[in-house]
Amino acid sequence: MAKTTPEEPSLAPEVLAKYEPVIGLEVHVQLLTRTKIFCGCSTRFGDPPNTNVCPICLGLPGSLPVLNKRAVEMAMRASLALNCTVHDHSRFARKNYFYPDLPKGYQISQYELPLATGGWLEVEVSGAKKRIGITRLHLEEDAAKNLHEGFSQSATKAYIDYNRCGTPLSEIVSEPDMRTPEEAYAYLTALRQILLYTGVSDCNMEEGSLRCDANVSVRPRGSKEFGTKVEVKNLNSFRFLQKALEYEIERHIGVLESGGCLSQETRLWNQAESHTVSMRSKEKAHDYRYFPEPDLLPVHISPAWREEVRRTLPELPEAKRTRFVTAYAITHYDAEVLTSTQALADYFESVVKAGAPGKAASNWILNELIGLLNDRKRPFDKSPRPPALAELLIMIESKQITAAIGKKVFVIMFESGRTAAEIVAAEGLGAQVTENAIEQAAREVIAKNPENVAKFKSGNEGVFKFFVGQVMKATHGQANPQAVNDILRKLLS
Ligand SMILES: [Zn+2]
Repeated sequence: MAKTTPEEPSLAPEVLAKYEPVIGLEVHVQLLTRTKIFCGCSTRFGDPPNTNVCPICLGLPGSLPVLNKRAVEMAMRASLALNCTVHDHSRFARKNYFYPDLPKGYQISQYELPLATGGWLEVEVSGAKKRIGITRLHLEEDAAKNLHEGFSQSATKAYIDYNRCGTPLSEIVSEPDMRTPEEAYAYLTALRQILLYTGVSDCNMEEGSLRCDANVSVRPRGSKEFGTKVEVKNLNSFRFLQKALEYEIERHIGVLESGGCLSQETRLWNQAESHTVSMRSKEKAHDYRYFPEPDLLPVHISPAWREEVRRTLPELPEAKRTRFVTAYAITHYDAEVLTSTQALADYFESVVKAGAPGKAASNWILNELIGLLNDRKRPFDKSPRPPALAELLIMIESKQITAAIGKKVFVIMFESGRTAAEIVAAEGLGAQVTENAIEQAAREVIAKNPENVAKFKSGNEGVFKFFVGQVMKATHGQANPQAVNDILRKLLS
């Protein structure tokens, strides 16, 4: 393995600015089927090694694959959600290579005729929207997993778990449309969100159900030709993706600036040392001796089936964001956070449906609820039920309690599961400041501010707010604002 020095000098910004990075991503995503793509074995993660295997996924001679219809449907869902054309005819192919995690000596994948092509998704970076093209989405089987650690003879032997072998995968290849590591990060985020919304995958990067490789090159700004492309593997987190791209872009520019040449190769991201290392020269398609898979029929997708799948697609994140902004008059940023997961978006809409004003629901969820969940390290599904939060927000809206009291009630609700009405009644929070106390505070404020009283009496309505603010302050924000208003009007008239 050729190693690069980890400590390469960083280049001056004006040198970096001379070049334009070109980035494309290849994402492998495990589809959420119960069984494998060509046999009936379970796809469950975490079972004891080599317990979910059969002659088909072990590649034993004489066994024949049978295509899992559900896997095709899942891949169609992803394709349609990514604006791809799902083709009437696609075909499986054998991708030949030898590796211990591939018992047949070839992987069943798709090559010349993939399931879907020509899609796009939209990303937003620093307020600017951009479409990233999707070249293709195809179906294939996952390989087994080599385990190099944790067994008695790990020092001298490799262990293989074939449970993963034959898990359905979709490979999603983007166009080389990204120009910065931030755009690549935004693309992967948007892609993951769509795959989660459509229920196609759990996209769990730690368990390997979402894996990302990046193709990166640089070229002089203004040039139309692509530079030499390097593939970077082992990017198993969003952060690694961004860091690896930043490193690799700078490495390319450094090589070019010093008059060197880049070689087309595959490199591995080494997180511990924060650099990439060369793994092998990049294999080309002909290295794999692709040919049509003779054991499987071509895949035919009727327009009726395709439309049936399209009809079952949920509202996608981008559409939901736009609707939230117009329907609930919330900011674009808030809509983005609320739609970051389907569960959060559904929760917000349930609170609104139960009667809470949209803006208040959004504020409370994003500030109070998320804050408490983080603080108490509780998962989102342990939030108060949406109608319970809605009841609290209605009490604040109708001025039965102040927002300050509301926050106290919410913490008690969060911890006890009691309703806002119960808590307010039990703790006597609704009547903490009596009308007499408000009146007394109001009289004091009026007595102390004769010049403002004069202004108000001469028709300056704006100064009324000053009195309300002063009385609220004097009652430590716990008076009912409506009562404060009424009492002040009475005393000032
Ligand atoms: Zn099997």
